[in-house]
Amino acid sequence: TYDAVAIGEFLIDFTPGGISPAGNPLFERNAGGAPVNVLAALARLSKRTAFIGKVGNDPFGHFLQDTLRQEGIDDKGLVFTDHAHTTMAFVHLGEGGERSFHFCRQPGADEGLAFEEIDPSLLGSAKVFHFGSVSMTSEPSRGATLSAVREAKARGAWITFDPNWRPALWQDNQHAKKAMEEGLEEADVVKVSEEELFFLTGRSELEAGAEELLERFPVKLLLVTLGAEGSYYRTRKIGGRAASYPVVPVDTTAAGDGFMGAFIGTMLENGRPAWEWADGELRKALAYANAGGALATTRLGAIASLASHEEIEELVKGAPVTE
Ligand code: ATP
Repeated sequence: TYDAVAIGEFLIDFTPGGISPAGNPLFERNAGGAPVNVLAALARLSKRTAFIGKVGNDPFGHFLQDTLRQEGIDDKGLVFTDHAHTTMAFVHLGEGGERSFHFCRQPGADEGLAFEEIDPSLLGSAKVFHFGSVSMTSEPSRGATLSAVREAKARGAWITFDPNWRPALWQDNQHAKKAMEEGLEEADVVKVSEEELFFLTGRSELEAGAEELLERFPVKLLLVTLGAEGSYYRTRKIGGRAASYPVVPVDTTAAGDGFMGAFIGTMLENGRPAWEWADGELRKALAYANAGGALATTRLGAIASLASHEEIEELVKGAPVTE
């Protein structure tokens, strides 16, 4: 059995890597994909994890398999294909340092995952089953993702969902919203940014957006990440905020995944589903998750930036950011 299984995109992120001796911009090869980042965060907290996804039978796909193995994430659900290349995304830095993503995915191997290719043993043996919406941008991976989530749920897994909105990957906003809504119908715990909450509900006010989302979907616990401000939580009964901890950010990549991994970790430690917790327990779990997110901003990269339990505990012992 596994503590957590995740399904979704797994790709190569080429991030700006300086200038070559010939004066040309260099790109650095990095493993990318939010679901694997969440599993890596959990693996660093000594949880047993496994990944379900598809990559090309090419050097990049083999590098991604090595990455799973190095992180201690079970790779038996990783499918290789000869019919598409491992998906790639190039990250370009704008004038002000803002990042834009250019995806090479026409289609990429990740989109080709079919439900029949998924090892059924991974759907019946997870305490937590995690997914996002990037794997729902096209078929057959959209159907595979939703069927896998439904199967895991029917077999008793707690379902966690991070919509992770990447506008460039969708035909249009309506297309994105429709798929995310299908995800929201299945999820127990949902994590969004304020921007995503606004996208999904049309409400710019946090409380109103949270209320609307819980009213329209059977979601049991909503988590909203607020960057340096920490995070917000809301169940059908209670809600509140938890402050984050002071850090010096150098790269915010995977902060949200570090947050989500740490939160899922506390739920696994506790053993009871988080939507049944008392206010104090939820606040404590959010503080821990905030520290996990905060630490991920203090180091370069995605997986490489994720924190250990000891580091998180150490940060939580200190004073939070004052409001
Ligand atoms: P993504 O990684 O896709 O941008 P996200 O928008 O969910 O995801 P953030 O809100 O930036 O991520 O960060 C997640 C969590 O990490 C926050 O809720 C917060 O707890 C912590 N965090 C992020 N940035 C900082 C910061 N500058 N100082 C302290 N904590 C931070």
